Amino acid sequence: MTIQDAKFLMSNSRVEECPAPTLPEYAFIGRSNVGKSSLINMLTNHKGLAKTSSSPGKTQLINHFLINGNWYLVDLPGYGYAKISKDARAKWARMINFYLRRRENLTCVFVLIDSRHQPQAVDLEFMEQLGSEGIPFVMVFTKADKQSGSRTSQHVVQYLETMSKSWDELPRHFVTSAEEKTGRDEVLDFIAEINQQ
Ligand code: GDP
Repeated sequence: MTIQDAKFLMSNSRVEECPAPTLPEYAFIGRSNVGKSSLINMLTNHKGLAKTSSSPGKTQLINHFLINGNWYLVDLPGYGYAKISKDARAKWARMINFYLRRRENLTCVFVLIDSRHQPQAVDLEFMEQLGSEGIPFVMVFTKADKQSGSRTSQHVVQYLETMSKSWDELPRHFVTSAEEKTGRDEVLDFIAEINQQ
């Protein structure tokens, strides 16, 4: 897919106020600092579209972008930021759960995972929740340029092996680097494929 046009539409804390659910929607989420903004900017070829985090865990809004006039890309607030207050964490959980369950045009969730680490409980738990609620998702391993390809593969395999203990079917996964633009075509072609169905 070629990105002809990418524009920011709006930020909301309430699902009811999000744009009318008339277009397929793809949501991006992960631990804070996972590289979500960098990935969104890389995918859309738009340097400042998603704001790279100067203060992680601060933005607690659902951010909608309109891509090529025919699908929504959604930047969701990250999880797993240690310094966030209990109240803010509970508020995040309420908003995200509501969004994930109620957003009728949500087509696929992209769960971003830092490829530098072995399986992390917070990521596994989040995907477990998505799976148990039947919310379609894929995994995107980020920052692959930060270590050797074999180390990245090792972490990917560890994730898949851990997940295969509780799941019959494993989610699709992508390996990306915002720095080197790795995985861009694969992710965009995947979205194009679904949009055509
Ligand atoms: P967010 O909090 O998930 O939106 O993460 P950001 O996109 O702000 O990235 C967090 C940090 O990781 C920043 O310092 C980025 O420059 C860096 N980063 C993000 N993606 C990559 C990548 O693919 N490769 C490298 N080397 N650094 C990255």
